Amino acid sequence: MRLNNLPSEFQKALPILKKIREAGYEAYFVGGSVRDVLLGHPIHDVDIATSSYPEETKQIFNRTIDIGIEHGTVLVLENNEEYEITTFRTEDVYVDYRRPSQVNFVRSLEEDLKRRDFTVNAFALNEEGEIVDLFHGLEDLDNHLLRAVGVAGERFNEDALRIMRGLRFAASLDFEIEEATFEAMKAHAPLLEKISVERSFIEFDKLLMAPFWRKGMEAFIASQAYNYLPCLTDSQEKLQSLLDDFAADFCFTSSEQAWAALILTLEESNVKSFLKKWKTSTHFQKDVEHIVTIFKNRLTAELNKEQVYQFGKNLIYRAEELRQAMGMSVDFERIDVLDKSLTIHDKHEIVVNGGMLIKELGLKPGPQMGQVLSQVERAIVYGDLANEKEAIFDFVKDCLEDIEKG
Ligand code: ATP
Ligand code: MG
Repeated sequence: MRLNNLPSEFQKALPILKKIREAGYEAYFVGGSVRDVLLGHPIHDVDIATSSYPEETKQIFNRTIDIGIEHGTVLVLENNEEYEITTFRTEDVYVDYRRPSQVNFVRSLEEDLKRRDFTVNAFALNEEGEIVDLFHGLEDLDNHLLRAVGVAGERFNEDALRIMRGLRFAASLDFEIEEATFEAMKAHAPLLEKISVERSFIEFDKLLMAPFWRKGMEAFIASQAYNYLPCLTDSQEKLQSLLDDFAADFCFTSSEQAWAALILTLEESNVKSFLKKWKTSTHFQKDVEHIVTIFKNRLTAELNKEQVYQFGKNLIYRAEELRQAMGMSVDFERIDVLDKSLTIHDKHEIVVNGGMLIKELGLKPGPQMGQVLSQVERAIVYGDLANEKEAIFDFVKDCLEDIEKG
């Protein structure tokens, strides 16, 4: 098959392929971008595979950066763009079912395509727009089928992350998982325990954020992969209720929101410890925890100005969207009105700071000053105090008198 109209991202990168070819090597576009072009989807990263070894690739271009030389990847900077160029490679025995123990550079495109996970991810596209399709990927693409390259069980045994990748591709592409591939996913799911949690998180997060996340979640449940991931053992029924409780056309608008929904559904009381087991950043943990808190507060009370100040409009919106998707009453306008009524959105907007209190009112640094400053903050948020220097100084003086009086 030949593509007549290459998208602009590929057009722009054609001189790179040409340069490599003129140096005497082969070069192709590979990976997800070729699949996405064939599906008519927008593409994000253009990956290039080549028969030149990394040192040889570096000789061809003026500006390169070693970003993963041990895996064969060189970053090439040309025409204000960056391209990842990876040497054709095979992967040896997988140690601990995690990472290949050794990457071997090879000169054969076929060898490189064979180590790829799914047939629709194993295309190569040359300068003329011809598609190299060694595993009937075009047929699978037409049928919207996700099929492992080669013997599925062997491929999942080599790298169990492919199970999670398969589930997330079902969710992002709206593809069915081919039967033998799915059976092998189920059979090898216990190996997910051996995969690094960070890698599983990335794939599960992509699944939740995908437009067809329901399809991915259904396959995830049917595969029983949840039994081998942090804090999800035996969670089949609760995961099912994630599907039942949310409107059929709802898609999560942020990762934090998706994980908050998951945690609410699982009835997990300790958000931080749950997300720590998934090895997420503390910033992520905090935002998810806030969405969960807002959602729970909102079950019993109306939103108020202080909450909008404390959590910020964005996270409150995320929680309100969850309510909407669950068929509960919502009031987005109220969030906007409350947000607009705030004179400050952050304590750094207060026109007086600790240094000024020391200089102008003779306060000493320490816990007392912290206490006074948070009283100032609260009074401004409640609308009891103007965010003006003189007014704040008077307020602080009153506070100090009160403290002295005990
Ligand atoms: P996305 O659109 O999400 O970037 P992608 O298919 O490009 O999807 P990447 O993770 O960017 O996925 O990987 C690029 C390519 O590398 C894949 O298309 C696949 O051919 C190959 N690949 C990536 N991870 C694996 C893996 N664990 N096992 C086998 N092949 C893999
Ligand atoms: Mg990609």
